[in-house]
Parts: sequence; structure tokens; C-alpha cells
Amino acid sequence: PDSSLLYDVEIRPDGDGVLVCFQDMTAPEQAERMRRDFVANVSHELRSPLTALTGFIDTLRGPARDDVAARERFLGIMADEAARMNRLVGDLLSLSRVEEHERVRPRGRVDLTGLLTTTLNALRPTAEKNGVTLSLQAPDDPVDAPGDADQLRQVFNNLVENAVKYGGAGGTVDLRLSVSDHDGAVQGPAVRVQVVDHGAGIPAHHLPRLTERFYRADSHRSRELGGTGLGLAIVKHIINRHRGRLRIESEVGRGSVFTVILPR
Ligand code: ADP
Repeated sequence: PDSSLLYDVEIRPDGDGVLVCFQDMTAPEQAERMRRDFVANVSHELRSPLTALTGFIDTLRGPARDDVAARERFLGIMADEAARMNRLVGDLLSLSRVEEHERVRPRGRVDLTGLLTTTLNALRPTAEKNGVTLSLQAPDDPVDAPGDADQLRQVFNNLVENAVKYGGAGGTVDLRLSVSDHDGAVQGPAVRVQVVDHGAGIPAHHLPRLTERFYRADSHRSRELGGTGLGLAIVKHIINRHRGRLRIESEVGRGSVFTVILPR
């Protein structure tokens, strides 16, 4: 009766009667469609910098051959386009690596207070160049949790970079680390890290889709800032691997809060 479901139907003789088998193909069909969309998106994302590069190569070989100023400018643009492709390929590799290990729980323990401090210190110079101050509020005693340090660094790096890129107009980006003995989101003791910005915010209809690969709330701005559209997809997979939760809240004109909840 549900027309959105897909069935494979097989009818075969069985004793004195027939056996009719219905196999629900909805999930495999959707997975196949997602795979096709992903390949199409990757091809499209790689093609635009490649088109720009080949265009500039032709111009440098032809009309701009003897124009030193134009040559320098075009080489600058070509370097940016090559860097964009490099970021895209790097993010694609990260995504496939994370997916490969998604079912295997991380073994180590991570000093989250230390990890957040070094992440903020590394991002501070770029943030300050854009007029954004980064701050960390954390309990006095160091907080740790089970996890993979490199992957969690990538999570907070992506979230803070996004907060600076898209929400930096608010002037500050705050990180808040807290612990609780029982957090409903993970049904037990947990750690919460909130990345709070006071920027433009995200219209509500985008929120459920933000962690999809290549989904962008503001496509123009993302491309202008060199975004790959894969950052939050990577974040989501890493958090899944840690059996954690990602919560995104946002209000247009006031800013956004990305909350990572990890079992402790
Ligand atoms: P991108 O490479 O485009 O930044 P992400 O997967 O990291 O890709 O983010 C997806 C989209 O979510 C972004 O393109 C942007 O539109 C939106 N976004 C992410 N973080 C924020 C934020 N803090 N404030 C506003 N929009 C955001």
C-alpha cells in the first residue's frame, strides 16, 4: 500500500501451489541512488577547478603569453584552484577512511581539555586575522573520554573553522566543554562540547540536511571561502564511530550552536 516502497517479486512453483516472495528493495535502491549521486557530485566538483585550470593554461599559452602582470595574476588563480582540488581530494580520502572504520570503536582515551586547547591555539592566528576571538570554557580538572585523538581533532577543527568562516561576523566563537553523569542523548555519562558562534545563523529548513555530503546552506559563500561541502559529513561519521551525537541548533540573525555529545 505504501507507493514509496520498492519490491522485488519472485513467483515460483512450490509443491502443489506457488510461492510468492516479496523482497523489500527500498533500502538497497536508495543506497544505490546515493552512490550514483555521490559519484556525479564528485565529478562535478572536480570538473570546475579543472575547467578553470585548462582555460588559464590556454590563455597563458596564447593571448597572455607576453603580459607579465596578467601571467602573475592567472598563476595565482591557478594555484588557488589547484589548492581547492587538493582540499577536495584530502576530504574525500578522510571520508572514505572514516567510513571504512566506522564499525570499529576507537580504543584510546583522549584528553579533551588538551585537545581543544591545542585546536584553538592552532586556529587562533587565522581567526584573529578575520577579527574573530576564540575562547574556551572548561572545568578546572582535565576532562577525558574514550576516542581517537586524530579524528576528534578533525571534528573540532572542522566545527571551529566553520564557526569562524560562516559565523565569525559575530566577533567571537566560544567552545564550551562540560561533563555530566547522565546525558539522555547517549543514555549515560557523557561529555559535551559546544561550538557557539554569533553570526548569521542557518535557516531551519537546511538543518536536517547539513551533514549530507556536498550539502551547503549557502553555496555561493561556501565556494567563495574554498569549502568542499564535506566537512560536516566527515564530522558526522566520526561522531557515529564514537557512538556519540551531533546536535545543530541555529537562529537566523543570532548564530549557531553545534553540540557534540560523546559517551564518557
Ligand atoms: P563547507 O566546506 O561548505 O564549509 P561543511 O560540510 O563544513 O561544508 O558545511 C556545510 C554547510 O553548512 C556550509 O556550506 C554552510 O552553508 C553551513 N554551515 C556550517 N557551519 C555553519 C555555521 N557555523 N554558521 C552558518 N552556516 C554554517
